[in-house]
This record gives sequence, structure tokens and C-alpha cells, in this order.
Amino acid sequence: MNSKGLSNDETSIRFSVKTLSKATHSYKIKPPLIKKSRIGRESWAINFAVGCTHGCRFCYVDAIHKKHPRRGLEGLVKRPWGDYFAIPSNIIEAIVRTPWHRWRNKLVYMSTTHDPYLPQLYRISRIIVERALRAGIKLYIMTRSQLVLRDIDILKRYRENVRVGVSIATSSETLSRIIEPRVPSPSKRLQVLRELKNHGIKTEALLAPILPPNKYRPDVYRDLVKLAEKLSEIGVDKVHGESLHPRGKNMEYLAKALGESISVRGWDYRAEAIFYRVMNEYGLRGEWYAERY
Ligand code: SF4
Repeated sequence: MNSKGLSNDETSIRFSVKTLSKATHSYKIKPPLIKKSRIGRESWAINFAVGCTHGCRFCYVDAIHKKHPRRGLEGLVKRPWGDYFAIPSNIIEAIVRTPWHRWRNKLVYMSTTHDPYLPQLYRISRIIVERALRAGIKLYIMTRSQLVLRDIDILKRYRENVRVGVSIATSSETLSRIIEPRVPSPSKRLQVLRELKNHGIKTEALLAPILPPNKYRPDVYRDLVKLAEKLSEIGVDKVHGESLHPRGKNMEYLAKALGESISVRGWDYRAEAIFYRVMNEYGLRGEWYAERY
């Protein structure tokens, strides 16, 4: 540790962040790194990037950045979703100045507006995960990336306090390539769940978003059955389901990618019914995040 409380690794990351933020766009983040989350009452979130290079076509986050742009990034976030990305130039200082122990025993999501395991963020995320868990925070990591497996040593050490939710939208490799082309295939993400589970880490599958029937995956029930077969074999602790929600331009992006428009009218109810039917058939503990429209 040096006089600023940084380890050698953290100091080297500080310099690579400076290089990275010159190559992308940078902004300053105000500590603490943990902010109030809108996911649930009394919950918190760690979000430290603007944009997500995974650029999933259905993503809800673009609408948030376009509606509430961070100062200095107003021009940047006008670009299409997946084409903009910025990280705070002072991220390491923000980590050091966050009084992590203040959130001891509190549920903190990481992250709700970007994947924390983007290749550009992986080294920063490792530091954050370790600091949060060392402070006794109950950390819920959400990702579509395989890079989370690189932190398995830390996750195992603090397994009492950590849960990893892996998002999977469909079992169809074809549909996945179309709607989330930059993330690992569904089978690779199932493998991430399996490996985490094999190491005794609490895992949750986030089946999100479940799209209405379309030409690439007409039978939603069959799709969920294929996922449920694997999930019950892996022994995931819980499964969350969520239908597609229109946000900003995501329906436009999806229609372009799919080559057809899809309607979500009444879909939340229908998708929920299919979800619980499949969960019951496979003895999985399921919870549906409803949003009626
Ligand atoms: S990984 Fe998550 S945050 Fe990133 S683009 Fe996909 S849905 Fe959005």
C-alpha cells in the first residue's frame, strides 16, 4: 500500500484507467461509489461506467443515459446504444474514498446500468468486489460475461455474502446472436452458472428479457423448457424472469435486428404464465418481475 492506500495493482490500474479514458471518454464520479438503487426498497447499486459495450438490442439503459446525461457526456450519449462508453478518470480515488463498511450487511447490486465484467472494466471490478466483500457487504453481481469466473478465488473466499446472477435471454443460439451479438452464447453462460455452482457460490439465472414469439424463436414455452432443463441440472438457487419492456429506442433496435416488429401488448401476463408453468414443471424456485402495460 502507498500513502494513498493503494496497492501496487491498484496504482497500475490507475494509470491504465487514465490511458483508457483518453481513448474513450472520461468523466469524474463523486464518491461514494455506492448509490441508492431503484431496484427495491433499501437497496444500493455500484455503477461506474456510462454505456455498455455489449450493446444488447433490448437494453433499457440507453433510455436512462439519454434522459439524464451526465454533465460533459451530453453529446456522447446521443450516439446509438453500444457505440458509446465512458469510465470515470478518478475511479481508483473514488474506490479509495468510499467508506465501504457503511454498507456492511446491506444488499448492493453490481451493476444495474452496465455489465461490471466488460473486458475494459474487469480489473477495476475485481478491486471493487474485493473491497465490498471484505467490508461485509451483501453483493449481488449481475453479468452476461464469462469474466466473472476470473474472480472465483475472491467469490469463494466470501461466498456467504455473494450471489451471482447470470442473465440469459433465450436458449436459442440464433436468436441470441441477433439480439445480444456481443455477449457469450447462452450455452457458455450456462457453463458460467455451472462453474460458480461447482465452487459453492450462490447463483441465480436471470431469464431476461423474455421476448414475445418471433420468427427466430416462435415457441416460447419450448425455449424456457430447454433453459429450465439445464438450470435444474446445474442446481441454480433461484430463477428470475422478466418480459421485454419498451424503453427509449430498444423496440426500434430490435425490429431492425429481427427484421420484424414485435408487439408487447399483453405479453407480460402471458410470459409470466409460461414462466411459472415451466418453473413448476422443473421444480425451480422462480420469481417474476412484473411490469404491466
Ligand atoms: S449487458 Fe446488460 S447493461 Fe450491457 S447492454 Fe446488455 S443488457 Fe444492457
